[in-house]
Amino acid sequence: MSTLLVKHAAILVTMDDHRREIPDGGLFIRDGFIEQVGRTQDLPQAADEVLDLSGHVVLPGLINTHHHFYQTLTRAVPAAQDANLFNWLKTLYPIWARMLPEDIQVSTQTALAELALSGCTTAADHLYIFPNGSRLDDEIIAAREVGVRLHAARGSMSLGESKGGLPPDRVVEDEDFILKDSQRLIETYHDPNPGSMVQVMLAPCSPFSVTPDLMRQSAALARQYGVHLHTHLAETQDEEVFCIEKFGYRPAAYMQSLDWIGQDVWFAHSVYVNQEEINLYADTGCGVAHCPTSNMRLASGIAPILEMLRAGVKVGLGVDGSASNDGSHLLEEARQAMLVSRVRAGLLGASLSSPSSSSLMTARQALEIATRGSAAVLGRDDLGSLQVGKCADFFAIQLDRLDYAGGLHDPVAATIFCAPVRVDYTIVAGRLVVERGQMVTVNLEKLIHKHNQVARRLLAGE
Ligand SMILES: [Zn+2]
Repeated sequence: MSTLLVKHAAILVTMDDHRREIPDGGLFIRDGFIEQVGRTQDLPQAADEVLDLSGHVVLPGLINTHHHFYQTLTRAVPAAQDANLFNWLKTLYPIWARMLPEDIQVSTQTALAELALSGCTTAADHLYIFPNGSRLDDEIIAAREVGVRLHAARGSMSLGESKGGLPPDRVVEDEDFILKDSQRLIETYHDPNPGSMVQVMLAPCSPFSVTPDLMRQSAALARQYGVHLHTHLAETQDEEVFCIEKFGYRPAAYMQSLDWIGQDVWFAHSVYVNQEEINLYADTGCGVAHCPTSNMRLASGIAPILEMLRAGVKVGLGVDGSASNDGSHLLEEARQAMLVSRVRAGLLGASLSSPSSSSLMTARQALEIATRGSAAVLGRDDLGSLQVGKCADFFAIQLDRLDYAGGLHDPVAATIFCAPVRVDYTIVAGRLVVERGQMVTVNLEKLIHKHNQVARRLLAGE
């Protein structure tokens, strides 16, 4: 039994059902779960550990719903800088094919450190390429050291070029092996209990890299174990054309034909969905991982997020892989979500006559997508808000700083409107991952050095 008292937060954002923001707020935490939330004066005065967050804004930990950690090794690759999705992938597949198991480990820690320093406490990752004996185990084991909760997706590719798919044949896997390995991973690592640090999901990569049969069989296996399903969907117009030409369906209808619709399914992107498809997501409980930076970087388009929220679709936030972002800064991603949603509103000619116009995404809506929204997408009712009984996952930013100078009329909005900052504290399950702006669980200097060595080797073709 151990207790942690967090006290004197300048403002504590709960994201609870009443969206309470508590001045001079605090938390009383026991064994990684929140036992009390309120004003500091109303909380117990002592605990095993005490964290005074005077002058800080405290928010529920941000939750990342889509990433490819390994891509931190191939950021800003010259030949992939100015390409659309399909050309970007074709450039990078051969480079990724050189990765070794230890490269997966290093890049996992790099991505998670970057996420933690941006306020992220839970991250979903989608690993779909397993060259040279690497396995999802490499990622899961490396993540433990960092201390951020992990939802590890066993990705897969089985439709190589010779069968009409996009990836080269040498990076795709045998379907029987994919299913067997998926089952092994669920049985070895998946923990469905409240407070879980690791969950496993099944995630055939995209319509253009797996067969319909693997999609169906993955869904059946996931449902046998009660784990979630994830894939890329409706990301680009090229993909839409591919689905119509190859399968005779638009992407969402194709998913419906494969039994890939329901509460246990979430899709990355969903840029190209019409109102009927948005209603289908809402009616059936499909979630969406919104990845605005990647959608801009690859010139994919702008996802209709406000329409989804209005229809009642579960929307979470994702930084996407670091080769199409090229960062893992989740607070920055929330800012991008707000801004690009406003670009879309402007293009659609939204009425801006009232300052409270509902056609503009607000800073608090962006934070809500990144916390409560993402938790719902991952099926985690123990995460996403600071409430009694939920996990003690939160981050804190010191308000007295250059970036927020002049913006303290509304410190909560400042976290989104002002330039994205590195956070001062990140706490997962009541344990410090970031303290005074520094990683406490990994040696960042060594990690960056090793990471750059690996990245150089991959690009040099060794
Ligand atoms: Zn992705």
